[in-house]
Amino acid sequence: LSDKFSGVIGDLGKRGTLTEADVAEAMREVRLAMLEADVALPVVKDFVNKVKERSVGAEVLESISPGQAVAKIVNDALIDALGGAGAVPLNLNAAPPVPILMVGLQGSGKTTTSGKIALRLATRERKKVLLASLDTQRPAAQLQLQQLAERAKVASLPIIAGQTPVEIANRAMDTARREGYDVVILDTAGRLSIDEALMDEVRQIRDVTHPAETLLVVDAMTGQDAVNTAKLFNEAVGVSGVVMTRMDGDARGGAALSMRAITGAPIKLTGSGEKLDALEEFHPERVAGRILGLGDIAGLVEKAADTLDQEEGERLAKKMMAGKFDLDDYVSQIKQIQKMGSISGILGMLPGMGKMKDMVDEKKLDTTIFKKHQAIISSMTKAERKTPDIIKASRKKRIAAGSGTTVQEVNKLLKQFDDMSTMMKRVNKLGLKGLMRQASA
Ligand code: GDP
Ligand code: MG
Repeated sequence: LSDKFSGVIGDLGKRGTLTEADVAEAMREVRLAMLEADVALPVVKDFVNKVKERSVGAEVLESISPGQAVAKIVNDALIDALGGAGAVPLNLNAAPPVPILMVGLQGSGKTTTSGKIALRLATRERKKVLLASLDTQRPAAQLQLQQLAERAKVASLPIIAGQTPVEIANRAMDTARREGYDVVILDTAGRLSIDEALMDEVRQIRDVTHPAETLLVVDAMTGQDAVNTAKLFNEAVGVSGVVMTRMDGDARGGAALSMRAITGAPIKLTGSGEKLDALEEFHPERVAGRILGLGDIAGLVEKAADTLDQEEGERLAKKMMAGKFDLDDYVSQIKQIQKMGSISGILGMLPGMGKMKDMVDEKKLDTTIFKKHQAIISSMTKAERKTPDIIKASRKKRIAAGSGTTVQEVNKLLKQFDDMSTMMKRVNKLGLKGLMRQASA
């Protein structure tokens, strides 16, 4: 979706004037790109119609830059389709112990997400959490959850062999009531495909526990399948929220766009890795940016503000917003990135850095690419770092020799920096400054 969409914006921008035919043509591209990104067909149709409606008329015609106006409309419509601005928190408004029921296909990430949610509620909200595995399908499943619980330092229901899922659910609720737990997370078994037996089981568990949240866990990478899964689970047991896992992968969030439309339930959380802390709130405005290929700037700024040197993070964010980001800032950014946890997660958020992400192995990171980039940049003069455009053939040779690299490697760095700058400019044009300011505040 991103490449296509960038192309569309670029085309409109160059033309300067925008006719209705232009809008129609742009929308055809958007439609194709969305289908490619595995957004469900009815959702695509609805989306494109909305954007067309919004695009026709004064707003676009009076705009100085029609391409920007359309881009803004597409972006806003995407945010709407993703559930509107802002994250929807977990609903824990019930008498404790509050049951949270986890459902989804096998391998979607239910057990891992159960552990992640437990950790989050225990540390951020100081809740007393009990994890209970109702997965009697696979012998190792209950042990898996127990181990996650130990890592998250929360309690798990003692394993008793031979109980049915409903019996375990009842025991979990009894234990939680007796021992004063705030929240009980019920992790259910999944199947490779949906069948009536599975749905019956989940329905029975639901009816004995009355969950405050029934969270459907779906793998973002499964695209169109995730949509079918959501539909079936929602019809069978009712879904109150969706968790999209594997957002750290290549998935651009196409499935996310369909989820809200299909289930009516908001995406509440996203998983971005295998580690227990790789769980984020779902921010429609950021995912819209990601779907449009703008990079998750706001997310990056927030993470930076969270984990890093606050002042440096803000300084870099300001320069990004002003479009004055130079190679010195890039080195500073590299240093900040090295301090952060998941490198590939961070790279995924940076505009124009998607390609880098594939090249970077988390463990090899600081000894390879970034070290090399730092070496190359430190062999540049001050002027070259401020204005990389002046670096032509002879300068490249000198820089390569000075840094013990090759001209190709220097070229690669410059190309990548150029991509980053282009994307940042595009972000600015789209008026996402406010968003970034919000996130860095
Ligand atoms: P379940 O069968 O639904 O309980 O799925 P699991 O929780 O056992 O997860 C299956 C696999 O997916 C495990 O190897 C997890 O570590 C992995 N996994 C879960 N969530 C994520 C995620 O957000 N990102 C990535 N990369 N892997 C994940
Ligand atoms: Mg499981």
